[in-house]
Amino acid sequence: MTGKLPFEALSVETLATRLATNEALCATIGKGPWKVREVGDGNLNLVFIVEGASGAAVVKQALPYVRLVGDSWPLPLKRSFFEYHALTRQEARAPGSVPAILHFDEGQALIIMEYLAPPHIILRRALIDGRQLPNIARDIGLFMARTLFRGSDLSMQTKDRKADLALFADNVELCGITEDLVFSDPYFDAKLNRHTSPQLDGLVAELRADRDLKVEAQRLKHIFAANAETLLHGDLHSGSIMVTDTETRMIDPEFAFYGPMAFDVGMLLANFWMSFFSQRGHEQNGKRDAMRAYLLGVTNETWAVFRAEFSHLWRTERTGMLYQKSLFEDQGDILASEQALDHVLHQIWSDLLGFAGIEVHRRILGLAHNADFETIEDEDLRASCEAKALKFGRHIAVNRRQILGMDEVNNLAALIERESRI
Ligand code: ADP
Ligand code: MG
Repeated sequence: MTGKLPFEALSVETLATRLATNEALCATIGKGPWKVREVGDGNLNLVFIVEGASGAAVVKQALPYVRLVGDSWPLPLKRSFFEYHALTRQEARAPGSVPAILHFDEGQALIIMEYLAPPHIILRRALIDGRQLPNIARDIGLFMARTLFRGSDLSMQTKDRKADLALFADNVELCGITEDLVFSDPYFDAKLNRHTSPQLDGLVAELRADRDLKVEAQRLKHIFAANAETLLHGDLHSGSIMVTDTETRMIDPEFAFYGPMAFDVGMLLANFWMSFFSQRGHEQNGKRDAMRAYLLGVTNETWAVFRAEFSHLWRTERTGMLYQKSLFEDQGDILASEQALDHVLHQIWSDLLGFAGIEVHRRILGLAHNADFETIEDEDLRASCEAKALKFGRHIAVNRRQILGMDEVNNLAALIERESRI
């Protein structure tokens, strides 16, 4: 297959024939016959697992529309191009953190990549099952610090960064999904919204009438749109991470674009907090107190690792045009450099709380819900978990500039969680 053929979606039936001569695939899994199966849990794209005599690989292909919705929601094939380019940059900046790329075909919007075989499992699934993964905070904290720092003007040559900024600026449609679904739709009666009803109706009406919250959500959207400081993963939630007890890999960066560092960090932490609030709904098979404590510990450790690694890179790899050493270290003024670092980290902190708060809201009020809450079958129980998360999200978004540290946030989460009725 070459990039010059017109785009054609693969299927379980056609994949083996169409990719039979693909050298990268044959080198990895051996020549046919192959066993092909489709993975069901992707929302936007086709994902196949192809197994041969000497291995397996994943074939991911974009469609000219949203897989889950169909023709009525067109979405350009070029998202595959951005996913490919994001994966190559993430691998360079945080080696070993993403699946290895075996082949990319732009015309067919197709990426062939390393298969993360069982026991790899989607992190969200593991957390719903109550599993305490020992390494995720460290691995994800390092991934975020390395990719966000090294993709910015703190590290890159400005010419290279501007070229990258231009390249990813064309990811208009996926960015548009975030702009609408995350920042705006949850706060009005948008067509695609849904929530657990009637249980949450009252609270939803309250949030949509909450002037401070709506203004804050739009200020955050403004930061998201205007602060193109680094290459983001763009969709870094627990469904975009595959784990074993010892390994952590980030997948699915098709929303990648240049935006504020705090966006990835905030979205990720929000998904840990949502897991925390959803545990009550999964408690039938045993108490989840230890799991809840673990999850708050994970938020703490992720942020601590992020800060430590970001600070390390600041001190050792600050080769970009921002906060240049000629003004600080080269004059023997280490304190000025540390002061500037504190300011940068503080900005990330107060912005990430905002992004986290609205990420919680959009997962409960918007189109794209998450399995943490959705798999709670008892609707009253689900609504009670969701209500607590909504209240938490509102607090951290609106008060983000006054919140001093992670202990304060986690104490609040624990207090809200323990309230029997809110
Ligand atoms: P989409 O962009 O359509 O949401 P994802 O990239 O999230 O697609 O992939 C959908 C699912 O396919 C994932 O949830 C995961 O179960 C599986 N998957 C994706 N990439 C890999 C991989 N490299 N190895 C193993 N499984 C994968
Ligand atoms: Mg995706």
